[in-house]
Amino acid sequence: MTNYLVDSHCHLHDREFFSNDEAEKMLKTALSRDVKQIICIGTSHDDSLAAEKFANSHADTFWTYGIHPESAKEAVFHEFSVETREKLVAIGEIGLDYHYPGFDKSAQIRLLEEMISFSISKNLPCSFHVRDALPDFFAVLDNFPKLKPSVLHSFSDSKKNLEIALGKGLFIGINGLITFANLDCYKGIDSSILDRVVLETDAPFLTPTPNRGKINEPGNIKDIASYLSTKLGVSEEIIAEKTTKNVRKIFNLPNPGGEI
Ligand SMILES: [Zn+2]
Repeated sequence: MTNYLVDSHCHLHDREFFSNDEAEKMLKTALSRDVKQIICIGTSHDDSLAAEKFANSHADTFWTYGIHPESAKEAVFHEFSVETREKLVAIGEIGLDYHYPGFDKSAQIRLLEEMISFSISKNLPCSFHVRDALPDFFAVLDNFPKLKPSVLHSFSDSKKNLEIALGKGLFIGINGLITFANLDCYKGIDSSILDRVVLETDAPFLTPTPNRGKINEPGNIKDIASYLSTKLGVSEEIIAEKTTKNVRKIFNLPNPGGEI
């Protein structure tokens, strides 16, 4: 049965935002709200190793290795041995971000290509962060036909780009934005989109209604599922079943409840 929820993208391991005690408490809250597995996303070499450490000391918690595009200029990517690492489920977040002035387009593209190649060589999917840069991102993707089915996290771009992303076989990460941002891309969608959606909080950011103003946490996946249930006119069980099936398949997650 997959009628539980998974947070496919959060930063609960990041001590800049969450103390140890807060993180422990939030894991309990998540479980009480049917969120049985979470993926901690790395944004730099050191942050990824912090995510690894967190995952290795908590059941049903996984991690990814990524270098965020905003640090592409300074980033040096050292391939490291992933074979001996447990609970590493993806490469990311990686991508392109042209939102703030001063970005280095070619450094970002170079790093993205390097990381996608790495993911393919290790047979891992990717978690992508792309902001104001989808045309360039799609062009890069076209050069990697062997990329495993991967997630475009926090999708909030145009309807046209949503269709292109789906056409390229990507899965879409839906988070709290959908509950408060009145996004054009999700107007008129129906339940068929659930075949290509995974749920995420991006905690500590993007807290969904009804908890706007508070720090976000994995348990709030439940609020996103409930919003989608109303919007799409299907039960919360169906939302959980479909999105959890997707996330388990993409990230090759085991059954929840496994030993550490
Ligand atoms: Zn993130």
